[in-house]
Amino acid sequence: MGKWYERTENAILTDEKKEVPNGVWIKCPNCSEIIYFKELARNQHVCFKCNHHFRINSEQYLEILCDAGNYREFDSMMLSGNPLEFSDPQPYRDQLIAAHQKTGIYEAIRTVETLINGIKVNLAVMDFRFIGGSMGSVVGEKIARMVDRSITDKIPLIIISASGGARMQEGALSLMQMAKTASRLARLHDAGILYISVLTHPTTGGVTASFAMLGDMIFAEPGALIGFAGPRVIRQTIGEELPEGFQTAEFLLKKGFIDAVVDRRYLKKTLNEVLKFYYA
Ligand SMILES: [Zn+2]
Repeated sequence: MGKWYERTENAILTDEKKEVPNGVWIKCPNCSEIIYFKELARNQHVCFKCNHHFRINSEQYLEILCDAGNYREFDSMMLSGNPLEFSDPQPYRDQLIAAHQKTGIYEAIRTVETLINGIKVNLAVMDFRFIGGSMGSVVGEKIARMVDRSITDKIPLIIISASGGARMQEGALSLMQMAKTASRLARLHDAGILYISVLTHPTTGGVTASFAMLGDMIFAEPGALIGFAGPRVIRQTIGEELPEGFQTAEFLLKKGFIDAVVDRRYLKKTLNEVLKFYYA
């Protein structure tokens, strides 16, 4: 499957042109339909014609999911250090500053407390714009703190993932976040509290290999790329051609790795149904 977020034609949205001004027409990268941007936004950035889910950022997910768009955010200014003094091609600190200037946020995940149709939840939303939604120490720590709050307050947890994997700029410290988040979620499980994981395009690497696949229920958006290593690496490793649609949400559903493929326009309703079943 091609990565639609990579530029293949001039008219396609890229990370650099993420903030599209209202009133312009854009072309669906999947079916080439020309869509008025405001209409697309009203349709929660899903193509009317082919159902292609355009990538949206953390702010847009919060708008879609939180009752009346209201939420209380935690640790919003938690910052990463540069423990390895990493510099490639520029100092890690400068990469963090550039990511902040591009997005207005300080890390690749935001953790909030909010209501979904009146039911209180802890919600985390990853943001792919911030260094590819990569997981470093701050992402791990914010998730750990949120899990702790869920245990203390006995409220369910939802994480919307979008990630290229572990953050190489933090080396082994990033890999440790896999163990850290997974062990925290084990405590949540022992406490009998619900955790719903929602996978969006793309969810890969260390995030897939830790908290994203540990949900009591796992949903994914249509067409989302979900996997650990990329298809090229797997092909080279096993020396075989991969099946059609490999690593898409639909393929994973067929193989039993996830519980449902959920259209973004029904995501809030679906979460509400599950929450009501457990908590109302
Ligand atoms: Zn389309």
